[in-house]
Amino acid sequence: MAILRFQALKTAINYKPSTFEGEEKRSELFASNVFNESTMRQYLTGDAFKSVVSAIHDGKKINRVVADQVASSMKNWALSKGVTHYTHWFQPLTGATAEKHDAFFETLEDGIAIEKFDGDQLVQQEPDASSFPSGGIRNTFEARGYTAWDPTSPAFIYETTLCIPTIFVAYTGEALDYKTPLLRALHTIDDAATQVCRYFDKNVKKVSALVGWEQEYFLVDKNLAACRPDITLTGRTLLGHSSAKGQQLEDHYFGSIPNRALNFMRDLENQCMLLGIPAKTRHNEVAPNQFEIAPIYEEANLSVDHNSLLMDVMGRVAARHNFKVLLHEKPFANINGSGKHNNWSLSTDTGVNLLKPGKTPMSNLQFLTFFINTIKAVYENEELLRASIASASNDHRLGANEAPPSIISIFIGAQLTKVLNDLEGVTKGKLSPKEKTDLKLNVVGKIPDVLLDNTDRNRTSPFAFTGNKFEFRAVGSTANCGNPMTMLNTIIAKQLKEFKIEVDELIESKNFKKDEAVFNVLREYIKASKDILFEGNGYGKEWEEEAQKRGLSNNKNTPEALKVKLHKSTIRLFEEMNVMSKVEVEARYEVEINAYINHLQIESRVLGDIARNHIVPTAVKYQNILIKNVKGLKEIFNKDYVDFGKEQLNLIKAISGHIDDINSKVTQMINERKAANGIEDITLKAEAYCNKVKPFLNDIRYHCDKLELMVDDELWPLTKYRELLFIR
Ligand code: ADP
Ligand code: MG
Repeated sequence: MAILRFQALKTAINYKPSTFEGEEKRSELFASNVFNESTMRQYLTGDAFKSVVSAIHDGKKINRVVADQVASSMKNWALSKGVTHYTHWFQPLTGATAEKHDAFFETLEDGIAIEKFDGDQLVQQEPDASSFPSGGIRNTFEARGYTAWDPTSPAFIYETTLCIPTIFVAYTGEALDYKTPLLRALHTIDDAATQVCRYFDKNVKKVSALVGWEQEYFLVDKNLAACRPDITLTGRTLLGHSSAKGQQLEDHYFGSIPNRALNFMRDLENQCMLLGIPAKTRHNEVAPNQFEIAPIYEEANLSVDHNSLLMDVMGRVAARHNFKVLLHEKPFANINGSGKHNNWSLSTDTGVNLLKPGKTPMSNLQFLTFFINTIKAVYENEELLRASIASASNDHRLGANEAPPSIISIFIGAQLTKVLNDLEGVTKGKLSPKEKTDLKLNVVGKIPDVLLDNTDRNRTSPFAFTGNKFEFRAVGSTANCGNPMTMLNTIIAKQLKEFKIEVDELIESKNFKKDEAVFNVLREYIKASKDILFEGNGYGKEWEEEAQKRGLSNNKNTPEALKVKLHKSTIRLFEEMNVMSKVEVEARYEVEINAYINHLQIESRVLGDIARNHIVPTAVKYQNILIKNVKGLKEIFNKDYVDFGKEQLNLIKAISGHIDDINSKVTQMINERKAANGIEDITLKAEAYCNKVKPFLNDIRYHCDKLELMVDDELWPLTKYRELLFIR
């Protein structure tokens, strides 16, 4: 009803942003709601503390007695902060986070009430898990998945509940979440990278993957959003004519942040501080009402947990400021969507960033080793990386000239391109003393200087090297980073293992010196994987053609993109790397393809309903006003009315045309949906949704948006783009 829209507008316009109070010094707030190592040190006995620390850093098992101690001190710490409940906190394949709260409170046989939380409750729980997606792993009748404590991610207090990060696995041991395969992938890359590091430094015992994400999002007024069933049910607008002013003036990016949004951000960052999420950067993004929050990078598992937690916190904090936060990749047509860059690097326990050029030729050779192995891994598995970011919502963004295309390529900048070119010319076989010196001085020795001004950022690249890290930019804003980060670390682990074998082989059977062997293998890698390197405009049509010639994949939609997950080679890769079993890989495919189908099904239903129940009746109402008007004109002016009412008659006709189109297209869409729903095979079903149902979404929208421009603004029931996007 239009009345609702106007009420919401009035509320939004009159909304007085309360100033956000209570901002204390960040460093003092930081992690005060986290049971981290420094809190543990206070609460645990020395032995228990040591045991937990070695579980965190070296993956050692924690025994029952220690688990009991940890549980009891966690409970005491939580109670001291007014906490009453605890939950195992996990990330099922729905993409959201899940929790089931239990009170510490228990009664004993004699009726005495106590607060109880022991090792058993800390270590393992059995949530009623039948309704989480499992891709057929866990039969519903059995419904037994369990959660198990992940001591590498510290427990935290959120909304008066003690949250314990856990993995979520089926009774039979298969992973049902994002965290389990990620932890396995991180373990594998630690192993593979450490071995390679030892060529350069024997002291390295552990390598950790580091991740820093950049979360983009939109803020819209809560009441205005509530007038839109599409936003409420699908997280994006399925229709709505563009606002006369959109992002064309480019006046929002890095502009001053509107007060109301700023208050939200301060509140959000305050929450982040308490939860130990090291939020650091905030700024406007390209589109109106679009913003970004980015933390300081952390160990990958913790960073992924923090992003999942943040997405939840954002929603809650937004509500306090009368906002709705839209994390969807494409909430509005014709203005930029949102992504979540995943910045990734590898770091040793000796404190060296393996993707940062060093100060000596030796450390640069180490840098080049990891740099080139990453390039090779991405080249050989580009389609898998594309698959790891595939979703119905990210399909809107990739290739829409605002985000990287669906072709994966790597940008490395002019200086490093030159270094690779030089390395490619290294003599095959043993190197002459002169060549060795040359390489040391002119190629490997020169990297630090040149990289200092490596500021040439190519924003159109899906995977860019940015000085000391790779930035995976094609990740969608709603994604659980665990998915792409599992993939990336797995393919790189595999590559590093191969590299080690090849180098060892040259050293052992050909009697090469270590450096010589490394140079020789790297040279071949550069030659073999050059085709993935691209420095030009990733948005251009020419790149699509060029990429096709190079044999790079260009999977434009999710059903196409996901197929590679079922390839034999993919399953072999995951099995070999101990990241996922065949059953797990196949189950994930099923979950993801089903999610795709469900998303499109919901969107298609919602649009059908809005078109028929909101748009058409509104158009008819306005048409009746026009008809009455023409009739009135006829009465007054008698037969001359035709001239006076000509424009109205044209409008009446045009409206009828759009109504006809909407109605017939909605009917056709429903029929296509029915046909798709009848398909057993989920891959074919997803394809039917993609190719047969989805096109109607745009068709129907087109006519609805035309009507929006014709119909009296006072009758229009849905909040318009200009209202959603420019309210301050
Ligand atoms: P941008 O210009 O893309 O916004 P920033 O320098 O602001 O880049 O960094 C973006 C993200 O990258 C931040 O989360 C930051 O902590 C993270 N980052 C910086 N260095 C590294 C690194 N070595 N490994 C992983 N992430 C990193
Ligand atoms: Mg970035």
